[in-house]
Amino acid sequence: MIDDDAVGRYDPAPDPPSVPAAPALVGARERERDRRALPPRAAIRVLPPAISALIAAGEVVERPASVVKELLENAVDAGARRVRVDIRGAGLSMIRVGDDGHGIRAAELWLACQRHATSKLDGADGHRLDGVRTLGFRGEALPSIAAVAELTVVSAPDERGVGWRLTLRDGQVIADEPAPHPRGTTVTVRHLFAGVPARLAAAGRSQTETAQIAQTVRRVALAAPGVGCSFFVDDRQIFQTAGSGDLQTVLTEIHGPALTGALLPLGPVESAEAIVWGVISGPEITRPSRAQVNVVVNGRWAQPRGLLAQVEAAYRPLLPRGRHPVLALAIETAPGRVDVNIHPSKLEVRLLAERMIGTAAAEMIRETLGRHPLPLQLEAASGLAALRFLPSASPGIAESSERYDAGPIVTPGLPPLVLIGQVQARLLLLEGDDGLYLIDQHRAHERILYERLRADRTLATSGSPEPELLADPIVLELQPAQVAGFSRRVDELAALGFDCEIFGGRTFLVRQVPDLPGVCSEAAPDLLRGLGDPDAIAEVLRALAAEDANEAADGEEWQERLLVRLSCRTAVRRGRPLEHPAMRALVDGLGHTAAPAVCPHGSPLLMRVGADLLERQFGWH
Ligand code: ADP
Ligand code: MG
Repeated sequence: MIDDDAVGRYDPAPDPPSVPAAPALVGARERERDRRALPPRAAIRVLPPAISALIAAGEVVERPASVVKELLENAVDAGARRVRVDIRGAGLSMIRVGDDGHGIRAAELWLACQRHATSKLDGADGHRLDGVRTLGFRGEALPSIAAVAELTVVSAPDERGVGWRLTLRDGQVIADEPAPHPRGTTVTVRHLFAGVPARLAAAGRSQTETAQIAQTVRRVALAAPGVGCSFFVDDRQIFQTAGSGDLQTVLTEIHGPALTGALLPLGPVESAEAIVWGVISGPEITRPSRAQVNVVVNGRWAQPRGLLAQVEAAYRPLLPRGRHPVLALAIETAPGRVDVNIHPSKLEVRLLAERMIGTAAAEMIRETLGRHPLPLQLEAASGLAALRFLPSASPGIAESSERYDAGPIVTPGLPPLVLIGQVQARLLLLEGDDGLYLIDQHRAHERILYERLRADRTLATSGSPEPELLADPIVLELQPAQVAGFSRRVDELAALGFDCEIFGGRTFLVRQVPDLPGVCSEAAPDLLRGLGDPDAIAEVLRALAAEDANEAADGEEWQERLLVRLSCRTAVRRGRPLEHPAMRALVDGLGHTAAPAVCPHGSPLLMRVGADLLERQFGWH
């Protein structure tokens, strides 16, 4: 927004007539009356520089964090190895960014602060924006900042220690003099928005602004991992990166040491003329927001929405609802394959072949998460609260372990666990080296079935399905409105190993279902049978047909839904007492899945009551 006084001369519209209370009544009639009240059209003229600078500033300098972003990007563009950011008063009193980059010559300092003055489009390539390699290119940041604050730039282009200082206030030069400075540039912005009351008021609470600025510094630090960034708020250091060039290191430097050793490397792979690599968290580390989901395209932190959705989809079956991963994905591609000029603050970029690159990234994530399974859900406190043993008369602990194989159950995905028994007919209780483990029997079985069905899908699409012919086909009677939609699913069903055909009218026949061996058929023949129950299959298909009639899902999502529902419907219920061999089979099956801590719906299924928690709760120290 621009200051009313400043525009008054150029926009002679009178104050709008005051309108009676109810805004709903301000209709076409009132608007027409206002329009007629305007004086005749004024002559068109080019705005004076002070006004156009204010207007441009409105786009570039929206809030203190935008100033920090522009200054930091200039430092990175100048080839800095180290950058220090200081703010006071949430950026409104002062923002200072100092770097050791190539500096600005004294003779060019004033020019650098003029609109559309840039050293980054040199004309060699015909001023083409599609070859831009730098973060900035519009030549608008410094003049925009100068339009809404006092701006001081001190810079030296070499190591002689002598630099030049230029200070601009209200468009006037108030200092233009030599000043000591090592090679590099220090830009100080004071009294931001002091002359723009509306913007000042819009700057949120100071904590919010400070958090925004911190977020901005983190993002630039991550996008330029080779630059050492330090960030100070009111002289207190908040974080620092060493400039190691390594994404994993930077991620732990900016998001906290808790991530040390907990991140999994990704790639690099090549896809659609781009190279993609990164680091991701396993499913045991989640955050309540997407604030730590980072994508960097050609050194620029960005939010390619489609790609982000694909990345989240890869995590979806592994993460609890409403939780998000920690990750950094870097994408390098030819500058001509990215449009960086589609957003006023360059937060969004348009990436050619975004979908293909996203698919490659999502595939890598799925693969990596599947290969590194140790995602224990450490919700110890709630786990303990939920554990209430039944009175001894009821079948609390179902089996004594002596009569059965009491050896530890050793699997790739879980620590070695000794089975103690079943609790409340719904939880398996086990002991590991580092505490007690509780497993939700229903969700564990769901996870196992879901992954087997998914594996089957891969088999089926690669052309070697192993279907099971049903003795009696399943007969599905659908509502007339559901028939057309469901007919379109026949191929998707076939890809999953279901042979389904239209029998006529609104009747469908399912003759074959994927052969899903039970978890351990000899151990528990009746129970962990697999996908044998025709009623369950019919029920799930009917429910999906009904949903489809309301809102059709895309093919892959529909298949995913089918698999999740089928495994839920088929899995052993809570409340069912289990024999020892069946419990062992469940734990063993679970330990062979890619994500033994969450069910396919995303709910936790594994809890650990650790020694530390017990010590705390019992006061054993
Ligand atoms: P842009 O970054 O789009 O070129 P700016 O207004 O941000 O526009 O900066 C104008 C010019 O000032 C830049 O092109 C660059 O030559 C110079 N400049 C700004 N900041 C720095 C810095 N920290 N170090 C060296 N040169 C800088
Ligand atoms: Mg710039």
